[in-house]
Amino acid sequence: MSRVFVFAAGGGGKGRSWKWRDMLRFAHISQCADLAASIERDYDSLCVKQPIGRELFKLFCQTVGFRLQHRPEIPHDSGLTSHSLLIGVSLCCGFEPFLPTIPQSNQCVTVVSKHKDSCVEGLQYDACRDVFQDCRADLHQCLSGEPFTQYQYSMFFDRFLQWKMLERQPITKQAFRQYRLLGKGGFGEVWACQVRATGMMYACKKLEKTHVKKRRGEAMALNEKQILEGLDSRFVVNLAYAYETKHFLCMVLTMMSGGDLKFHIYNMGEAGLQEERVRFYAAEVCCGLMHLHRKSILYRDLKPENILLDDNGHIRISDLGLAVKLSEGGLVRGRVGTLGYMAPEVVSHERYGMSADWWGLGCLVYEMTAGHPAFRARGERPKAAEMERRIQTEQEEYGDKFSKAVKDLCSSLLNKDPKERLGCRGYGGKEIQCHSFFKKVNFRMLEAGLVEAPFKPDPRLVYCSDVQDIEEFSAVKGVSLDQSDDNFYSKFNTGSVPISWQKEIIETGCFKELNTFGPEGSRSPDLDW
Ligand code: ADP
Ligand code: MG
Ligand code: MG
Repeated sequence: MSRVFVFAAGGGGKGRSWKWRDMLRFAHISQCADLAASIERDYDSLCVKQPIGRELFKLFCQTVGFRLQHRPEIPHDSGLTSHSLLIGVSLCCGFEPFLPTIPQSNQCVTVVSKHKDSCVEGLQYDACRDVFQDCRADLHQCLSGEPFTQYQYSMFFDRFLQWKMLERQPITKQAFRQYRLLGKGGFGEVWACQVRATGMMYACKKLEKTHVKKRRGEAMALNEKQILEGLDSRFVVNLAYAYETKHFLCMVLTMMSGGDLKFHIYNMGEAGLQEERVRFYAAEVCCGLMHLHRKSILYRDLKPENILLDDNGHIRISDLGLAVKLSEGGLVRGRVGTLGYMAPEVVSHERYGMSADWWGLGCLVYEMTAGHPAFRARGERPKAAEMERRIQTEQEEYGDKFSKAVKDLCSSLLNKDPKERLGCRGYGGKEIQCHSFFKKVNFRMLEAGLVEAPFKPDPRLVYCSDVQDIEEFSAVKGVSLDQSDDNFYSKFNTGSVPISWQKEIIETGCFKELNTFGPEGSRSPDLDW
């Protein structure tokens, strides 16, 4: 934690370029015809998954009269007020404005009232359960019919196409300002950067092209980029843009300015973390791994330095260079990862699946608690063969820093037999979330981003060892780039990632400021939101 650092805000008040409106100027709707003809008319993608699509569909629904008329009557003796139930509904589906009623069809009135009793009952039974699942499904069923069809003929959908055209603009380095160096990796460096048009801060991971070529890192770089672009979790770094410059391939990622867990475990006083923090980070990592596993992605590189903190103290899993997508129920072979954190089945060249990640979680929880890795004393550097022996045969020791619950969690995750390991017995990560160590954690609140972190990094500090002196990566001599490289670069260079880009536009306020409609399509003033 070296020196005080303040980001140069640059440009206008919010860090936007003074030309930001020009950068985000809508194309005329006539120029969107090709896009209109080719875009897949999928309700779930257009109106639920894509953040701007969802906002515009909501506006459409409000405008044509699918508006909240009266709130559902929920019996007051249920212990839950109608208000809390409505908040719950809105948290879960974000479509609260038209949940209770669609005047013409009456369908949505029944959506809520049909499920009201089961929602209330479900919550009393288990406060963490997704009690709105059925309700949400019925609601979307209803909205994906007539309302969705009408929407596609409305000015709101035209506007959606205009936003999509902006989203698809090619990305070059001119789109960003570059600030300080954040860290260094195998193929290049990671720099803080800011999008000129919106003011959003990101971390740009730059891979030097000649380094990638010399070390045959093409497949690995493309793999990392392709895995990242398919993810959308608050517990994994998100990819916002992928682009190339003359010398670099760049991945623009969620900015994590609070340092990595390795730094927090070892460089903030006595090694190790308080149990409250261990619980919180372990719970968030568990959710992140579950997100990856649901998409059949095995992470394979869990260790403290790959878990990064943001300025609010929440963590994300980062560095997906070793992640692999498994085929249905498949297993992989391959000794990859960092030896100290490799599961016994990985060390011994067997085929393995998600079990390797749950072992990694065990190593992480152990190290956060003890202040040293599970199979190595602080400062000790055993030979590889000795590390392998310890991982495969030695029982790790639990000192007095371990409470009964955390010890039980660690030893169940560090079970040498992958079939017996916690998380690998048919219920996946759910089984880990149910462990007594996490009794106090409300995972649904955590998933919704509503749990405050037990430790918030000081925004004036830099939580890393000094990186300012590292020289910029220079090209490798004697490596020339040719046509076959261009082929790979064009697969990498796909520009904005839709969901991340749309979130950025909304979060930075650009959507609200630019999404106004002209006189022909005016909205009535009370619809302003
Ligand atoms: P490599 O795959 O080459 O190891 P990493 O993805 O681990 O590269 O990045 C290298 C370093 O850059 C990390 O150790 C960390 O210090 C920093 N870094 C990486 N991603 C971010 C991010 N999203 N926010 C802030 N710093 C980051
Ligand atoms: Mg790394
Ligand atoms: Mg990596």
